[in-house]
Amino acid sequence: MKILENCNMAEFTSFKAGGNCERLLIVESNQELAQALTEISKSGKKHILLGNGSNTLFADGMYDGTVIKLGEGFNKISVSGENISAGGAVLLSKVAREAMNFGLGGLETLSGIPGSIGGALFMNAGAYGGEMSHVVSRAYVMKSDGSESYWISKNDMELGYRTSRFKNSQEIILEVEFKLEKKPKPEIKSLMDEYTERRNSKQPLTLPSCGSFFKRPAGHFAGALIQNSGLAGYSIGGAQVSEKHCGFLVNKGGATATDVLALKDLVQKTVKEKFEVDLEPEVRIIL
Ligand SMILES: Cc1cc2nc3c(=O)[nH]c(=O)nc-3n(C[C@H](O)[C@H](O)[C@H](O)COP(=O)(O)OP(=O)(O)OC[C@H]3O[C@@H](n4cnc5c(N)ncnc54)[C@H](O)[C@@H]3O)c2cc1C
Repeated sequence: MKILENCNMAEFTSFKAGGNCERLLIVESNQELAQALTEISKSGKKHILLGNGSNTLFADGMYDGTVIKLGEGFNKISVSGENISAGGAVLLSKVAREAMNFGLGGLETLSGIPGSIGGALFMNAGAYGGEMSHVVSRAYVMKSDGSESYWISKNDMELGYRTSRFKNSQEIILEVEFKLEKKPKPEIKSLMDEYTERRNSKQPLTLPSCGSFFKRPAGHFAGALIQNSGLAGYSIGGAQVSEKHCGFLVNKGGATATDVLALKDLVQKTVKEKFEVDLEPEVRIIL
């Protein structure tokens, strides 16, 4: 187990902004994780599991708790027939590539999402009509106090639009099993290339961000509402509403989390005033 003190979370999150945490643990096995969670739970202090940090923003200042990351020990993939099993730290893009190599389809739409398997299941990440709930069969998880681990099936995960039971249960996702289907490799590759091209042309991928900052409100698109509010390119400090895709708040250089949160508030207020629509952040904001 690796223990880092007073870590700057900008280095561990894709926004490249935010404050520090008291302690960051990188655990390599279920045993190390259980031990860490038991100690934290006894101390009464808070903790959070961080995946690839592509949907998480830590507020400026100090997070007075422990951030836990799953290390190399959780970075394994195995394939058996039409099933793929991946550790919680494996990147979704890596699982999609491995699936393609074995001629297994189903992950094409998700292949460009820059998250870990754990973060993707927690968020029920999705794109271009696909989402994790379409391909997951079960997951091995640990209770948030480290006391036990067990399998849960998809039907018990309460997967909905960018939500899951894990938001409330705080269970740690250690391993995820996918049920895929046989598909010719060239077909999978061509679909993955097409989705990559769509991302490259529509999204501001050269600047740090957390992807779409807000959830899609019923009957609307967040990006269009923000654009039609006249906020394209609007910035506060180093945080900016992307001109390329208004649903993205980006770090154009030197943004603090305070800048990002002030911009988020302004966007929410403006859209509410103009269109009577409440925008809810998709990004996990850690105070
Ligand atoms: C350029 C860009 C494009 C994006 N495009 C998309 C998109 O098309 N669709 C989409 O849905 N999202 C998109 N995202 C957002 C993000 O990539 C996804 O939400 C992704 O699933 C988050 O995974 P992560 O590992 O980075 O999670 P993190 O940001 O590390 O964590 C997110 C949440 O999951 C929890 N968590 C992480 N790992 C675990 C675990 N092992 N066990 C329990 N809880 C865990 C964390 O506590 C946190 O609450 C995009 C982001 C960027 C930067």
